[in-house]
Amino acid sequence: MNKKFWDLIFPRKCVGCEKILSPSEQVFCRECESKWILSTERICKECGYMQYKCRCAPKDVKKGYIDTYRHLSSFHNATAKKFVYTLKHRKNSEAFSYAANSLFSLICDEEGLDFENCVICYCPRSKKAIRKYGFDQAQILAKKLSKISKIPVVNALVHNGSHTEQKLLDAEQRKILSQTTYSLMPNVLPKIKGKTAILVDDIITTGSTSVACAKLLKIAGAKKVFSLSVAYTQKIYKGGVKKLVF
Ligand SMILES: [Zn+2]
Ligand SMILES: [Zn+2]
Repeated sequence: MNKKFWDLIFPRKCVGCEKILSPSEQVFCRECESKWILSTERICKECGYMQYKCRCAPKDVKKGYIDTYRHLSSFHNATAKKFVYTLKHRKNSEAFSYAANSLFSLICDEEGLDFENCVICYCPRSKKAIRKYGFDQAQILAKKLSKISKIPVVNALVHNGSHTEQKLLDAEQRKILSQTTYSLMPNVLPKIKGKTAILVDDIITTGSTSVACAKLLKIAGAKKVFSLSVAYTQKIYKGGVKKLVF
C-alpha cells in the first residue's frame, strides 16, 4: 500500500514525545532529535569524552572478555530512555534503522577496526520475550547494522530459555544467571575464529549479559570482542548509586 496513504491512517509518531511526525521527520520530531543528539554529545563526567566516545562501562565489562566497549548515549536521559523502550517494545523499522545508522557512525570512527575481519553478533533475547514482543531487538539491530556496514552477521549465540526479568535482579544475581543463560551455536567456530566480533545490544546495565556472551565468543576463537550498545546505564541500588565506572 502507498506509504503516504498508510501514514494518514496510522500517523507516525515521534519516539520521544509521541507528536505526529511530518513527512520529513524520520523517528524523532525536530526537537526530540536535537535532544537525542545532545545526549550522545553530552560530556561524560567520568572520562571527559562525549557520551558516544565515552570509555566508561560497568566494571565487569572492563574486567571481562570485552576488549572495546562503546555506546551512543547514557540511559539517564529521557529521550534515550524512550528510544531504547521503543527498540525493546515496538517493531518500529525506522527506529531500528536510525539506531543502526548511529551505531555504524560509531564503528566508522573507530581507528584500527578492520571491517574485513569483523563479524556482527548479538546477545539473543529469550524465547519467552520473543513470544511476548514478537521480535528480537538485538537481532534486528545486528541485521540492520550488517546491511549498512556489509559486515556479515553470525548467529553465534543461543538463549537457553530461562527467562527472568533482569530488571528485578541485582548485579550479582544477573552475573550468576547470565553465565548459564547463553551457549554457542553448533558449528560456529570457523565463522568466528580469528575475527573481531562486534557484539550488538540495545542497552547495557550491569554488563553481565554482554560479558557472558563475549566469553563464549572468545571460547569460539574470536580475537577481539567489540561491544556496541545504544545506551548504557548505572544501576540504582538500595543505598544509592553503585559506582560502575572503572
Ligand atoms: Zn518529539
Ligand atoms: Zn565516560
